[in-house]
Amino acid sequence: MRATVLHGRGDVRIENIPDARLIEPSDALVAVTRACICGSDLWPYQLMKPGENPRRMGHEAIGVVEAVGANVRTLKAGDVVVMPFAYSDGTCIFCQEGLHTSCVRGGFFGTVEVAGAQAEAVRVPQADGTLVVLPVGADDALMPSLLTLSDVMGTGHHAARAAKVGRGKMVAVIGDGAVGLCGVIAARRLGAEQIIILGRHPDRIALAKAFGATDVVSERGEEAVARVHALTRGFGVHSVLECVGTDQAMRTAIGIVRPGGAVGRVGVPHYEAIPASEPAFYNNVTVGGGPAPVRAYIEELLPDVLEGRIEPGRVFDRVSSLEQVPDGYRAMNQREAIKVMVKTSSR
Ligand SMILES: [Zn+2]
Repeated sequence: MRATVLHGRGDVRIENIPDARLIEPSDALVAVTRACICGSDLWPYQLMKPGENPRRMGHEAIGVVEAVGANVRTLKAGDVVVMPFAYSDGTCIFCQEGLHTSCVRGGFFGTVEVAGAQAEAVRVPQADGTLVVLPVGADDALMPSLLTLSDVMGTGHHAARAAKVGRGKMVAVIGDGAVGLCGVIAARRLGAEQIIILGRHPDRIALAKAFGATDVVSERGEEAVARVHALTRGFGVHSVLECVGTDQAMRTAIGIVRPGGAVGRVGVPHYEAIPASEPAFYNNVTVGGGPAPVRAYIEELLPDVLEGRIEPGRVFDRVSSLEQVPDGYRAMNQREAIKVMVKTSSR
């Protein structure tokens, strides 16, 4: 089968590899119909070191179940399913607490250990706990929005939850990538009154406004902090969704959150120690977040997608075939595209 393999910095290829197949009795084999390229895929694309093992990329997908292992109870061939970026058994203590990304039998797709979904097919471990059957056909018009339940919509929602967004709150979203834009949707959905988007790309800002952002701050660093204070009567916001992961983004987050407020971080951190911990301490700021347990959020978000109350699929501004995936990485890396949806030709 054809699949996406990252070999080194900027070196992503579509290759013939052995077909995905069932290995464990709890596995499902899924023919991928839609996948996508994630902002987090760009980190290894930019930073992979010589000598690292090649990596089979992709952790977001919708597909059709082709086969299930002997122990799988809730799925059958032909089911249209959405695949969260992490697999989980759905039964362990952490899954029961809704923290599926810490599942004791779980793991992440698109790593060196587990093959990714930017491919014609993917093996899904712990299939009963991981996959959610969608009540639609494989070519439903809602596919783009449903696909965001794999990662970016659930991740934006997680940032909002970790940042304690609620009715009437003032919220800032740092990052105008797909996750930040979904964070705007999530903040509005949870009742935020003011939503300030920190970003500078005109197309992304326009989408943020369409999703419910009330204010735009395009400055950076100290200027951004001053602008947010000016927009919030000098106090800062209750909630910051930190959707970037850099030291500078976290410094800005702590600079713009009001005393007693919360920062929800979902950008993979590229710093060792959390910066600005002294002001965070003196202002009693909560810093929370981590990899989103998107599996836990699918039941909550799915009705809003199916009934059209939210349209996170608008973050996809480019569609590519599997063979065009390397150009999709390039386009996202050069900020030509917000997020690329990959349509695979089903087998
Ligand atoms: Zn578990």
